[in-house]
Amino acid sequence: MRNIDHVIVGHNGGAGARTGEVFNPNTGQVQAQVQLGSQADLDKAIAAAQAAQPGWAATNPQRRARVMFAFKALVEKNMDELAHLLSSEHGKVIADAKGDIQRGLEVIEFACGIPHVLKGEYTQGAGPGIDVYSMRQPLGIGAGITPFNFPAMIPMWMFGVAIACGNAFILKPSERDPSVPVRLAELMLEAGAPEGILQVVHGDKEMVDAILDHPAISAVSFVGSSDIAHYVYRRGVEAGKRVQAMGGAKNHGIVMPDADLDQVVADLSGAAFGSAGERCMALPVVVPVGDKTADALREKLIPAIEALRVGVSTDAEAHYGPVVNAAHKQRVENWIQTGVDEGAELVVDGRGFQLQGHEQGFFIGPSLFDRVTPDMQAYKEEIFGPVLQIVRAPDFETALRLPSDHQYGNGVAIFTRNGHAAREFAARVNVGMVGINVPIPVPVAYHTFGGWKRSAFGDTNQHGMEGVKFWTKVKTVTQRWPDGGGTGDSAFIIPTMG
Ligand code: NAD
Repeated sequence: MRNIDHVIVGHNGGAGARTGEVFNPNTGQVQAQVQLGSQADLDKAIAAAQAAQPGWAATNPQRRARVMFAFKALVEKNMDELAHLLSSEHGKVIADAKGDIQRGLEVIEFACGIPHVLKGEYTQGAGPGIDVYSMRQPLGIGAGITPFNFPAMIPMWMFGVAIACGNAFILKPSERDPSVPVRLAELMLEAGAPEGILQVVHGDKEMVDAILDHPAISAVSFVGSSDIAHYVYRRGVEAGKRVQAMGGAKNHGIVMPDADLDQVVADLSGAAFGSAGERCMALPVVVPVGDKTADALREKLIPAIEALRVGVSTDAEAHYGPVVNAAHKQRVENWIQTGVDEGAELVVDGRGFQLQGHEQGFFIGPSLFDRVTPDMQAYKEEIFGPVLQIVRAPDFETALRLPSDHQYGNGVAIFTRNGHAAREFAARVNVGMVGINVPIPVPVAYHTFGGWKRSAFGDTNQHGMEGVKFWTKVKTVTQRWPDGGGTGDSAFIIPTMG
């Protein structure tokens, strides 16, 4: 059985006391054991990070950027191997696994420009003979705790920016698909990052708690489910750290009566069922405005959903593959039953789906619900599976209120040909990322990613300039170089520019 080990400087590869099982979701079989680390493993990583970080911070930003350029080239060179590895542990199809890696690489491309974005501000002559300038300095050691659903992109969101800014970074990836993060750390070393600048510690709650409590870690970036995000935020802040913690989602797509329904159906099929719905920017709720729109949409959705091909993640024709493990499959199917029990109309039932030759795989067929209402638990909670819910709204104002009042506020989309309605919607909706005729509005790397409400705790987004802000602290210098002609008087009044 393959053993997936930590990437810690000086770690001798000895087996730890605890391990976790890593499945192949296509077969349902355990394919590897991952080490579940402890405080002692983290201490070792911290010692190496402390030894490496000052030298890395003192390395000029252009040289740090060159490591990012080299890393990008290496990831591109190894794209096929990485995508297959990712797909074999996560279950997303190969093309989608490549997308996962590519979206992370786009943050690395942003990090290649770090010399430019780290330039500080300067004011000459802020007072008589006084200049003021500011600089952004790294925090020291940062940590990232990441979810299973984007094992390449989300680690790169974090370490790309943190490391380019001059920090050392300790990554605690999901224990469900930990191999790609390990490969990324190996490739960073190959690209020229000094030992100790990117390390990977595997584990579960024990390791997460050790990270949150460790006094040498200055900042923690977390992405995962909301209850854990809130916990990580509270505990990290309590320990005096800077914390950003992104949580779950339940994104809505509003369909106005004037929308191009064929395009909407095509967009919804990909956004609701791609990656088996295991995306925080999936679109699992569609809100047609008016019954006429709802009926027409439903009529077009049914054959589109029935035509979806569920297959093993290496099947190039498959639209989506299995979910990540048996527990998650059970959880999704339980939510479908809850929806039925609560009175929603199950139009297409994906439960009981079996792929011939892969009966033990974690496959779920696509499901469609109609007449879902806001009081239902199956609407309020995130299902994170291949399940699309239709919530009918009589008018624009009701449609606008649904995502605005929902506990999550990650992404939302509106489909319309009416520019005024779209503009009004974008301005008023209480959600962090908005798509206008764009079903999955994940911002490009040089903008920033972050939801609102229970989709994100803390006030700084991922990547882009917000990422740079998160991974650096500002130092502001007020300087005066006297010419020797001063009066020698003391000032007892706070200096002003008045
Ligand atoms: P998860 O919350 O189960 O795990 C996330 C991380 O937390 C993992 O590294 C895991 O080891 C750790 N963890 C798990 N239980 C813990 C505990 N009790 N104490 C401390 N740490 C613990 O999330 P997941 O299932 O891996 O990922 C799916 C979730 O992530 C979904 O809710 C999805 O919406 C969310 N997500 C959010 C975003 C976003 O940007 N908002 C992006 C991707 C995924």
